[in-house]
Amino acid sequence: MRMVFLGPPGAGKGTQAVMLSEKLNFLHLSTGDILRENVKNNTEIGRKAKSFMDKGDLVTDDIVVAMMLDKIAKDAKDKDFILDGFPRTIYQARKIDEELDKLKIPIDLVVYFETSLKIVIFRLTGRRLCKDCGANYHIVNMPPKKEGVCDKCGSELYQRKDDKEETIKNRLDVYNSQTKTLIDYYREKGILEETSGDLDAGIVYEKLSGILNDRNKIRT
Ligand code: ADP
Ligand code: ADP
Ligand code: ZN
Repeated sequence: MRMVFLGPPGAGKGTQAVMLSEKLNFLHLSTGDILRENVKNNTEIGRKAKSFMDKGDLVTDDIVVAMMLDKIAKDAKDKDFILDGFPRTIYQARKIDEELDKLKIPIDLVVYFETSLKIVIFRLTGRRLCKDCGANYHIVNMPPKKEGVCDKCGSELYQRKDDKEETIKNRLDVYNSQTKTLIDYYREKGILEETSGDLDAGIVYEKLSGILNDRNKIRT
């Protein structure tokens, strides 16, 4: 099964994708993580992407599409995978559909995490990440055992530069103006499922598992 996770920044897409990949062996492909890795390693993609990411604007479509297609071809062709944070524009969606159709590995399911504005802002301002292993925390909702320290590897936690209030506002504007329209795009294709992103992570995960079970029943 090949999935897309759709929803505003802070909806919990990454959190759910990590849980699914740990329990059901999905390969988790997060555009944001891959881009941040490129910035960290100062690659050509990273150098092109950085200024957009710092402002909370979208990185140029062609760069992101080529990067994700390359990643899929290398690591995910024969696997179940989750695209987290991609596509984010209609252009990206059309392009990736076209290319995945050619490879005969089309997207089977798109999960839209409908999440309220207040919750998203609270989650993003409190989000912290491990600088070594990338593990995801929230200072109130999912705090580490020891403040500022990763439970999994003991490294330091940091706040993403774009998780500051002003940049968050721009990212939400970008989501509303460019990404939200993908809900209708996938609904029309008949592969959209919706679930609330507002609930506790464990409950969201249960709902997600329910959707996957139903789909498998339908497909067999
Ligand atoms: P996204 O990938 O959609 O931007 P994340 O998965 O990074 O969202 O989650 C954003 C923040 O909210 C993180 O700090 C995470 O720990 C926290 N979080 C994720 N899901 C939930 C949830 N269901 N309830 C409460 N907090 C959550
Ligand atoms: P979040 O889920 O919290 O919005 P991400 O980690 O997915 O954040 O994305 C961080 C930044 O990376 C975005 O603000 C944008 O600059 C860039 N980015 C991620 N995915 C895409 C995409 N599909 N197209 C263009 N830019 C992207
Ligand atoms: Zn860690």
